[in-house]
Amino acid sequence: MTGNKLGVYDAIVVGGGHNGLVTAGYLAKSGLKVAVFEARHTVGGCAVTEELWPGFKISRLSYVNSLFRPEIVADLKLKNFGFEMLPRDPSSFTPFPDGRYMLLGPDKKMCLEQISKFSKKDAENYPRYEEMLSEISEILEPMMAMVPPNIGKLSFSDFMTYGKFGFKNRHKIKENWGDMFRLLTGSATDLLNDWFESDELKSTLATDAVIGANASPSMPGTAYVLFHHVMGECNGVRGVWGYMRGGMGGLTQSIAKSCQALGVDVFTDTPVQKIMVKDGKAVGVIAKGGREYQAKVVASGVDPNVTFNKMMDEHDVPAEFMRNVRRINYDSASVKINLALSELPNFTACPGMFGPQHRGTIHICPSTQYIEEAYADSITGRPSRNPILEATIPSSIDDTLAPKGQHVMNIFTQYGPYSLKTGTTWEQEKEAYGKRCIDIMNEYAPNFKKSILHMEVLTPPDMEREWNLTGGSLFHGRLTLDQMFNMRPVPGYADYRTPVKGLYMCASGTHPGGGVMGTPGLNASKVILKDFSRL
Ligand SMILES: Cc1cc2nc3c(=O)[nH]c(=O)nc-3n(C[C@H](O)[C@H](O)[C@H](O)COP(=O)(O)OP(=O)(O)OC[C@H]3O[C@@H](n4cnc5c(N)ncnc54)[C@H](O)[C@@H]3O)c2cc1C
Repeated sequence: MTGNKLGVYDAIVVGGGHNGLVTAGYLAKSGLKVAVFEARHTVGGCAVTEELWPGFKISRLSYVNSLFRPEIVADLKLKNFGFEMLPRDPSSFTPFPDGRYMLLGPDKKMCLEQISKFSKKDAENYPRYEEMLSEISEILEPMMAMVPPNIGKLSFSDFMTYGKFGFKNRHKIKENWGDMFRLLTGSATDLLNDWFESDELKSTLATDAVIGANASPSMPGTAYVLFHHVMGECNGVRGVWGYMRGGMGGLTQSIAKSCQALGVDVFTDTPVQKIMVKDGKAVGVIAKGGREYQAKVVASGVDPNVTFNKMMDEHDVPAEFMRNVRRINYDSASVKINLALSELPNFTACPGMFGPQHRGTIHICPSTQYIEEAYADSITGRPSRNPILEATIPSSIDDTLAPKGQHVMNIFTQYGPYSLKTGTTWEQEKEAYGKRCIDIMNEYAPNFKKSILHMEVLTPPDMEREWNLTGGSLFHGRLTLDQMFNMRPVPGYADYRTPVKGLYMCASGTHPGGGVMGTPGLNASKVILKDFSRL
């Protein structure tokens, strides 16, 4: 990629994850000269497609999309650059050890029939449950795109923005207050027990509540994680998750191409070593090889720990701020397994070599007790003996990902804690962990093991090493209420600004958090543009 010969920019974005790219795109669209510096060989961060084995294109970390904001797709004209979402119908398939299975998805009639196999009462309640989530999404989703007010520094415009929001939504808030408050603070188990009796349905739904959280669904705060994963849309249909054509790299490559069309210089294989500060103001970065690049604005698209502890001198940042940065919890216990398959799994519960059971997320979590036990292993510091598996086969609807007749599979698993207390390292454990996951899947689809051509296992330390994710945290810090909204990344700095003038945060460590959403990047760009002329 080309660079500006003088190395002088209006804005430099550190990290070419999707949020860094979104920030760069909006700044360039407003006429700023922007550069993005990415440490890896490709942009995209956690949303990348890489050809790990000849012919097999793998979404190495994230693998499904729903949260990415449609306004960004429109503003940056991403469809002109290859952005294409492929809806999944059905969206999930859960086989059970007793030979039954459940399919769920956007087709309401199918959901009614499928849930009725387990509980008629739950089948009747399910549309009302979805309606409740949808109503709360309608209230909370607009808040995701609002810059959180900094407590103690409330401006007139904060009062106006939040006042207007509260007034406009007052009836909806009043009607949904009980459910909304429980969603924000309570446990997924309590929420699901409130609505349903069938353990099969509850265990399927509960998996969304524990993603990246290193928490069990009975722990307070997990209802929000569940909710965080049911916001969003696919091609205008609310709550539906889709694949990106070409894998998740299809999404980030479209942003990168849009950025380049807007004149952004994108440097890959160029880690930033240091954010330069002069007289209390960010003035640029030092990249690989010691080369200096100057800018009026530096926007950090990496997590707060990497930004402040690894890229800055301690004396450049106030001690009180650093104290809060060091308190951020990055606890995570997700392990990702990527596979190339010679054929699709043939499930005993729902036999067939190609069918609806292959299109959505395949959940292997036979009961809510199974999830609790899987978590119990993790808190004792060992990888779960019976991990929860969420498997997807995007090649079942996207023929660009694997050679004809063959397939790629993502298995997202919980719980493999970052720090093991087994007396062993992840390097020693990970092959056995991968094999255990395969054995579990093989119990449900007996042709599975022999269909595996290649396997990659990525543990939390691997994610830290290769993507610079502190603790392997997929959300750049846990998504718990103590680290949300105006507490994210730290109290007093939820508005994407930092104590260093000209330095901004623009990635998942800021409001509204992780997931391939783009909202942190979008919100940060608005704040930067507001400040730019005064810097
Ligand atoms: C295993 C896994 C599965 C997931 N599944 C999903 C999913 O299916 N759907 C979903 O919506 N979300 C999912 N997520 C979460 C989601 O992918 C992330 O929250 C999101 O992509 C983070 O985007 P970001 O731009 O904020 O940061 P990142 O994607 O972390 O980007 C930061 C970038 O900065 C770069 N960088 C780091 N240090 C430096 C440096 N010194 N100099 C220059 N560059 C640097 C990194 O290489 C990276 O490219 C998943 C995450 C993981 C890990």
